[in-house]
Amino acid sequence: MHSVDVLVVGGGPAGSTVGTLLAQRGWRVTLLEKDQHPRFHIGESLLPGNLPIFEKLGVLEQVRALGVYKPGADFTAPDGKVMAFPFARALGDTPAHAFQVRRSEFDQLLFDNCVKQGVDARQQHQVLDVRRVGNGHEVDYFDAEGRQHRVFAKLVIDCSGRDCLLARKQGWQMRDAHHASAAVFGHFTQVARREGDLAGNISVYWFEQGWIWMIPLRDDVMSVGAVCWPSLLKSRNGDLENFLRSVLATVPDAGERMRQAVSVSPVSATGNYSYASTRLYDDGVLLVGDAFTFIDPVFSSGVYLAMNGAVHSVAPAEAWLRGDMAAYRRACRRYQQAVTRKISAFSWFIYRFTTPAMRDLLGNPRNDWQVEQAVISMLAGDGDGSADIRKRLRIFKAIYLGYRCKRLSESWRAWWARRRNQRVAFTDETIMS
Ligand SMILES: Cc1cc2nc3c(=O)[nH]c(=O)nc-3n(C[C@H](O)[C@H](O)[C@H](O)COP(=O)(O)OP(=O)(O)OC[C@H]3O[C@@H](n4cnc5c(N)ncnc54)[C@H](O)[C@@H]3O)c2cc1C
Repeated sequence: MHSVDVLVVGGGPAGSTVGTLLAQRGWRVTLLEKDQHPRFHIGESLLPGNLPIFEKLGVLEQVRALGVYKPGADFTAPDGKVMAFPFARALGDTPAHAFQVRRSEFDQLLFDNCVKQGVDARQQHQVLDVRRVGNGHEVDYFDAEGRQHRVFAKLVIDCSGRDCLLARKQGWQMRDAHHASAAVFGHFTQVARREGDLAGNISVYWFEQGWIWMIPLRDDVMSVGAVCWPSLLKSRNGDLENFLRSVLATVPDAGERMRQAVSVSPVSATGNYSYASTRLYDDGVLLVGDAFTFIDPVFSSGVYLAMNGAVHSVAPAEAWLRGDMAAYRRACRRYQQAVTRKISAFSWFIYRFTTPAMRDLLGNPRNDWQVEQAVISMLAGDGDGSADIRKRLRIFKAIYLGYRCKRLSESWRAWWARRRNQRVAFTDETIMS
């Protein structure tokens, strides 16, 4: 049987990143991707925290060439007030911008780069099963012609994204009942952009039953989507595009920007979409990116979390490959800490994003004790950064609690409405039908 050091499942941002980094360090890596690049993928708005990782991979200039310069994010309150948060104001040494990318191009670039750097990366190869055998794993997969093969890998890194190959197989996956939302999205041209320096911003809008994004891409294309509560989706009569347009029309500024919009892709949807795995690693197995956990993408965190997780997974991977079990366990614990700290830094804000108190605070930011700048650091991916940033974010959280108490009855009504909606069950099939 053919044997390799590392078998990576999945050639999205997590898989291509960890594959490249391990190949750069001399390991024999095989990566199997079930699709064929370029292929559509949602998740087009990146964070400044991605830039140092692009440099490590040697792709910063290529990403710059295919991306749209993203100077920050703007949030629009239900009363129409727009608040811009430029990354240039973040604390610490976070890069002052990020990029918006078409994932078809971006994922292909990362995949091609890992081939260039020595990874045996194959497309249209689907991993079927992974079994522990001796000091490694046997992996069964289909090749592009549909023939089944088996390979022995010392280490398996699961980067299978929302397919969650190992977490599902092992029963580690837990759905997040508090975030039973669904997203409806598509690409449009002739959507008005923000003016001047803000043209590359991601725009986020609150509405009664969720939030909306607008992400400017190259060639006058705008990625437009709405994340909504199940009850709203269930009330839909008509196709997904009409549903999306009707949601956008309820928000004056978004509706106005969409007035001339022409759809250039099918509008699609994904449902019930937040989850976590109870385990991030096992003997000879590491999970990276969405294969481990998925949180609501309101702060554009997914690709950054996936690539940052890939960077941190290198140490436990190498310890396992060297056969040093004590070092492996220590490195796994550090990996877990790094990943969960990053996720928690975003999650605290995500869980509170739709509360009236958070809307008030983000809609009327004040920079006392530099807390607004610390919030921008969180938006840039540095919410778990220096002690100084973490201290200022703790002050923000205390202010938030004060606001919440002041607006207790409204907060309670919002919480109750959301809870009622969590009881509305739905599946991907009900959304698409
Ligand atoms: C509605 C929505 C909006 C989002 N918006 C943003 C955003 O603006 N910014 C952002 O950063 N993130 C966003 N995300 C999140 C982002 O899409 C993901 O977090 C990111 O793609 C994770 O990267 P990954 O490499 O872990 O997984 P993926 O990018 O999903 O890659 C996994 C790869 O594994 C392959 N694969 C799966 N199973 C197998 C198998 N058995 N064998 C072989 N290959 C396999 C898949 O084909 C895929 O190519 C959004 C997500 C959603 C749902």
